[in-house]
Amino acid sequence: MFLQITNCIVVLLLCFANVYGVDLHDFDRYQNQLTRSQVEQKIKTYLEKDPSVSDYYRITDESLTILDLKQGQVEYVLLFAAAPQPDKPKIKKTLQKARIAIDPGHFGGAFAELEERFIAIPSGNKLLSFNEGTLTYLTALALKELLEKEGAEVFVTRSDIGRGAIKESFFEWLEKQPHLWISGDSLPQLFRKYYNRADLIARADLINAFAPDVTIMIHYNDHPMDEKDTVAQANYNIIFIPGAFSCNELSRPQDRYEFLRLVVTDKLKSHSNFRKRLPISL
Ligand SMILES: [Zn+2]
Repeated sequence: MFLQITNCIVVLLLCFANVYGVDLHDFDRYQNQLTRSQVEQKIKTYLEKDPSVSDYYRITDESLTILDLKQGQVEYVLLFAAAPQPDKPKIKKTLQKARIAIDPGHFGGAFAELEERFIAIPSGNKLLSFNEGTLTYLTALALKELLEKEGAEVFVTRSDIGRGAIKESFFEWLEKQPHLWISGDSLPQLFRKYYNRADLIARADLINAFAPDVTIMIHYNDHPMDEKDTVAQANYNIIFIPGAFSCNELSRPQDRYEFLRLVVTDKLKSHSNFRKRLPISL
C-alpha cells in the first residue's frame, strides 16, 4: 500500500519538477540512507527556525515527505533507512570554470577610523591596532589565490587597502556632494550614511556585471570600543549557519530544494557549538 502511494507521488513529481527549474530527484541517491532520527535531529537543530516550517514536511517512521502547500500536493518522499548507513564516497567536484566574486568588507587603511571598523588596544606604551577593511582585503587575496589554483575565475570588488568600488576616495567624492556638508553630520556619519551606501551599490553593480556562480562576502566585525566596553562584549566572531528557514521561507520550490539538500547532505556539521557566538580570544 505504501509503495503504491509512493509511486503515485513520484509520477506527480516528474510532472512538476521541471516547471520550477528545480528537481528534487537530484537527491534520489539519498533514498534509504538516513534514519528518521538523523533527519529529525538535523531539521530541529538547524533548519527549523520558525514553527511554520513544519507545515512543509511530514515525518513518519518510514519517510520524510516534502509538501507543496500552494499546490496542495506531495512534492517528494525520502525513504528512511532502518539503521545508520556507512558514508558514501564523496563526489569530487572541480572549480574549473566556476566564476567566484569576493567582496572584502569595508575599506580599511587610512579610512578604518572614519568607517568605525577598527580595534585599538593599549599594549604597554604602544597602541596595538588593526582594522577590518585591511584584514578582509588580505583574506580576499589569499582566498583568490587558493581558488584560482583550483581553476576558478575570481573577481575581487576592491583593488587595494583603503579603496572601495567607487573610483573617488571619500574626500574626492565628498567634494562633489556639497549638499551633504550642511547636514550637520560628522565625517564618520557622512562616511557611513552616504559614501559607504553608495559604495555598496557600486560593489553590487560590479558583482552583477561579472555574473558569478557564487559570491563570497568577508567580514570580521571589528567594532570600536567605548571605555566601558571590553573586547569580549563588543566584538565577536559570528558564525552564520547557512540554511535555517524562517516563517514562510519554504513557500518557493527552490527553497524546498535547498531544505532537502541540507537535510540529506553533510553540509551542516552536527555540532551544536556552531550556533553560538564565539568571543575573540586575544
Ligand atoms: Zn563588517
